[in-house]
Amino acid sequence: MTDVRLHLLIIEDDEHVRRALREALQEYAADVSEAATAREGLAMASRQALDAIILDLGLPDMPGLDLCRSLRAFTQVPVLVLSAMHDEPTKVALLNAGADDYITKPFSSPELVARIRAHVRRFTDRRNGTSPVRLRLGDVELDLQQRLATRAGHPLRLTPTEWTLLRVLVTQRGRTMTHRQLFLAVWNREYGDASLHLRVHLTHLRRKIEANPAEPRYIVTDPGVGYRFEWPDPASSTTSP
Ligand code: CA
Repeated sequence: MTDVRLHLLIIEDDEHVRRALREALQEYAADVSEAATAREGLAMASRQALDAIILDLGLPDMPGLDLCRSLRAFTQVPVLVLSAMHDEPTKVALLNAGADDYITKPFSSPELVARIRAHVRRFTDRRNGTSPVRLRLGDVELDLQQRLATRAGHPLRLTPTEWTLLRVLVTQRGRTMTHRQLFLAVWNREYGDASLHLRVHLTHLRRKIEANPAEPRYIVTDPGVGYRFEWPDPASSTTSP
């Protein structure tokens, strides 16, 4: 992955931020295209083969949320949103509009690049139909395809809902799934209070797979936003063909 050059698009009206991003990203083996407006960004995104799009939430010609939705109408490449704000309702709205991640300004370049690469890797796996099927989380071993689990070598029973929840989270690893998105993905419907329902299932699941369910390491909570599966050491997992 390290020697693969990424092609990224930055949509940001602030020239200084754009330049800082370009310099940071070029240093980490990326080719960078730039757009100063949402319209320009949409036109470039529809013409170019991109690995990821980084967009600023405050653009002069279109709200960031609308831009996310417009991009999602024709592309599935990872979209990362840069914002000076980081309130929870905004994050939830962005994720529901199809963004993959949000980064608060000022950002750290190595962290930004690591997150871009994680999203690009997940996107590539999904496109190629290669998603992890066997995971080792401490003393817990999971086979998502066979639906087999052990803890310290002893059989571990997960309910069908827990397996589905786990599979959705693993497929979307590194990406916070909102309550609404998880509910739609697992139950294929929206409930009024999805978060309570989810919390019950996630509590059971964490008790089974986390070493310390009170301080989960794999299924982490993004407070007020949703849940995210943190990718363990890739060497401890294998993927399906
Ligand atoms: Ca701006």
